[in-house]
Amino acid sequence: MIKISRTCVNRIIKQAKEHFPIECCGIMAGKVNGELIEITEIFPMTNVDRSPEHFSLDPQEQFEVYYTIREKGLKMLGNYHSHPHTPARPSREDIRLAYDPKAVYMILSLQEAAPRLKCFHIENGEYSEIPLVVED
Ligand SMILES: [Zn+2]
Repeated sequence: MIKISRTCVNRIIKQAKEHFPIECCGIMAGKVNGELIEITEIFPMTNVDRSPEHFSLDPQEQFEVYYTIREKGLKMLGNYHSHPHTPARPSREDIRLAYDPKAVYMILSLQEAAPRLKCFHIENGEYSEIPLVVED
């Protein structure tokens, strides 16, 4: 199960709306306690693709964020991105580019009036949803 604060979720939604119709993206950090993954911080990143259908992180920004995460004693948990026009599930491209079976891939869909947020593990070309709890 994954826990994330309402504050982090609201920041992701705000970022996604500001960048609409371009996909927004970022990195998530926090703690892992057995089966429980706690996202405590998010780091908005630049989508260097500037595309409404895919995203790439900026390597330099990525390097700096990884450094900050280590400095804070947190763990890099995975990344998030928005789907401006499609549902909250990994696209074929998302599956193809998923390199870490332990990483959390979070997707925020703006397809419908109410934003939808879902988390996945992706391994061997298949994805599985991880239950997500948003805490106030
Ligand atoms: Zn995607």
